[in-house]
Amino acid sequence: HCPTGALRERDDTQKVFDALADPEKVVVVQIAPAVRAAWGESLGLAREDATVGRLVAALRQMGVDYVFDTNFSADLTIMEEGTELLHKLAHKEENTFPMFTSCCPGWVRYVKAVRPEFTDQLSTSKSPGQMFGAVTKSYFAELKGIDPHNIFCVEIMPCTAKKAEVAIPVMNDACGDSDVDVSITTREVDRMIRAEHIDATMLPEEDFDDPLGTSTGAAVIFGATGGVMEAALRTAYHVVTGKTPEPDAFSDVRGLDAWKEATYDLAGTPVRVAVVSGLANAGYLLDAIAAGEVEYDFVEVMACPGGCAGGGGQPIHDGEELAGVRGDVLWGLDHNAELRNSYENPSIKAIYEDYLGEPLSERAEDLLHTDHHAWSIH
Ligand code: SF4
Repeated sequence: HCPTGALRERDDTQKVFDALADPEKVVVVQIAPAVRAAWGESLGLAREDATVGRLVAALRQMGVDYVFDTNFSADLTIMEEGTELLHKLAHKEENTFPMFTSCCPGWVRYVKAVRPEFTDQLSTSKSPGQMFGAVTKSYFAELKGIDPHNIFCVEIMPCTAKKAEVAIPVMNDACGDSDVDVSITTREVDRMIRAEHIDATMLPEEDFDDPLGTSTGAAVIFGATGGVMEAALRTAYHVVTGKTPEPDAFSDVRGLDAWKEATYDLAGTPVRVAVVSGLANAGYLLDAIAAGEVEYDFVEVMACPGGCAGGGGQPIHDGEELAGVRGDVLWGLDHNAELRNSYENPSIKAIYEDYLGEPLSERAEDLLHTDHHAWSIH
């Protein structure tokens, strides 16, 4: 904490309250995977009672028009990023490896600011939050006949770096407005619940709205270190072999170790993968790659130790690190999910059939991918 109080935590909750009070605005909120593992901690809820269904109910009580799940667009990210990886592997001589994940804005910023020589190796896929905003202000707006300029898109994230990501000037592909209007943290949504005098212990369980509220176990593990990698490998395996992978076939990269690696066989092609969390560890990994000490095809990097479960926007408990406990909640949700693979999500199938065509189509490239060179760090 700043001893003089000159530095305070940025709070964007008033922007959300203002939009809720504006009759012109259609307020659409998305809830990120890791938020559901932590939002009840500072509201006196037991972990088993702090379900995402109760958070959905709290948001509806505040007057939110549509409550959706970032997990939907995490599945979309996997479809795009997994396909991007397979295309690169199919044209290995034309590409530089490894390809790095790009869903963590803390990591993307670090690459651009500190190790720009690796920028071209970042996946061009936008983060799930940004993809969600882009499809909300295009596909969803068309489905519902809403003027996208009247949609106010809010994301609830475990993350403070997302506040800078939503402000990147080129993240406006759906209608010219920002794809996401404001990013608030888990701590901020908890403050909103308290400010509205909502008793979290009395909330009913409610479902997400359709169609951007349907997701799979592969999406929910985005919030834990190793989850993006595992989710991508499940879909890549299916695309290459046509078979459904064993649910835990790619589980070697789970756990809180700072740097994990594995090699998997995808229909005769060995794919070497690594997972790191924490930017210091990412720096060591980049040094090792640059020195030729290690070689990988695909690398997942999350800036926060333990991934988003331990993100900078989550409730703070002095002296206690809860990334592991929250990550276990997410792995449990995946284990119990009816659908465990992104390609099985019926809403994902529908958006490709009805709107996007196929992964990496022209429309998908326009809405769901970005050019990491098109903006600069100030
Ligand atoms: Fe944000 Fe941390 Fe998650 Fe990166 S790892 S997206 S910085 S919460």
